[in-house]
Amino acid sequence: MSETIFTKIIDREIPATIVYEDDLAIAFKDINPQAPTHILVIPKKVIAKLDDVTPSDQALLGHLLLCIPKIAQEQGLSDGYRVVINNGELGGQTVYHLHIHILGGRQMTWPPG
Ligand code: AMP
Repeated sequence: MSETIFTKIIDREIPATIVYEDDLAIAFKDINPQAPTHILVIPKKVIAKLDDVTPSDQALLGHLLLCIPKIAQEQGLSDGYRVVINNGELGGQTVYHLHIHILGGRQMTWPPG
């Protein structure tokens, strides 16, 4: 499995503003925020992209989703927020370590760009 900058954040080799952490997941502020609140939730397990998950990741994926409302509440996103996973080149993925974006603090529009 190839490592990315997110592995370095998990290992505390580079700094990040970490807002949540448990045994399986870590969440930190996006370095280039696209909304007033922009958090990335990632598994500690190295999985490059959503396409690469297997049935053995079912509990982990559920865990990541369950973290989101908790983090959103802690971030004060009581009026709503958007959750995004970019997958692969056409999906706009740039870092190949599975991550879930939480975007909030402004009105979201549809369709996304
Ligand atoms: P994606 O385009 O879905 O792969 O999203 C990758 C996200 O990682 C982008 O929103 C980047 O701004 C963010 N990012 C890249 N490097 C860092 C970093 N060192 N710390 C926090 N966020 C980062």
